[in-house]
Amino acid sequence: MLNLILFGPPGSGKGTQATKLVEKYGLLHISTGDLFRYEMGNNTPLGQEARSYIDKGELVPDSVTIGMLKNKMDKHPEAHGFILDGFPRTVAQAEALDQLLKEGHTEVSVLVAMNVDDAELTERLLERGKTSGRADDRNPEIIANRIKVYKEQTTPVADYYATQDKTRLVNGVGSIEEVFERLCNEIDVVLV
Ligand code: AMP
Repeated sequence: MLNLILFGPPGSGKGTQATKLVEKYGLLHISTGDLFRYEMGNNTPLGQEARSYIDKGELVPDSVTIGMLKNKMDKHPEAHGFILDGFPRTVAQAEALDQLLKEGHTEVSVLVAMNVDDAELTERLLERGKTSGRADDRNPEIIANRIKVYKEQTTPVADYYATQDKTRLVNGVGSIEEVFERLCNEIDVVLV
């Protein structure tokens, strides 16, 4: 099983690259951001809770997020592996993920992190906000908070997997195809 964590700050292109990686490697794409947006769109209790954090650019609490991820994984016992996009975002989530995968007799194969500078991220997110319908992409203060939260709470996840020698860094600036090729080069190393 290939279990891939697609990692990077908000606006680094995780969603775009995940779609391409799914096509190439045939894995199940799980985006916790998409799952939350689905719940918010249906105005479920989970969606209502998530919205109060997402609208401020804060992380949804670990217990809620981990429960939702576990649910999604449990629904797909047929999956040959996962592309996790936007999860784990805290070390506690990473530990919970390792435990979940261990119960399924598997593990994280690799974390590929896309590096993009803050100015470019802000520009990309504001541009996306014109068409994405996402409130959290339209407000520069919320975008700044999302980047701050990423640096403080999420980058330790890359360090956590580095201690397991599973973290790989790629340059996230370039065309979609160029970045895709860089990601595939790193992923193909763990496939052989
Ligand atoms: P994304 O689409 O990945 O940018 O996620 C949008 C928002 O959903 C984030 O800014 C968080 O508020 C929330 N979210 C998504 N994934 C997680 C996660 N793994 N842990 C906590 N909050 C999350």
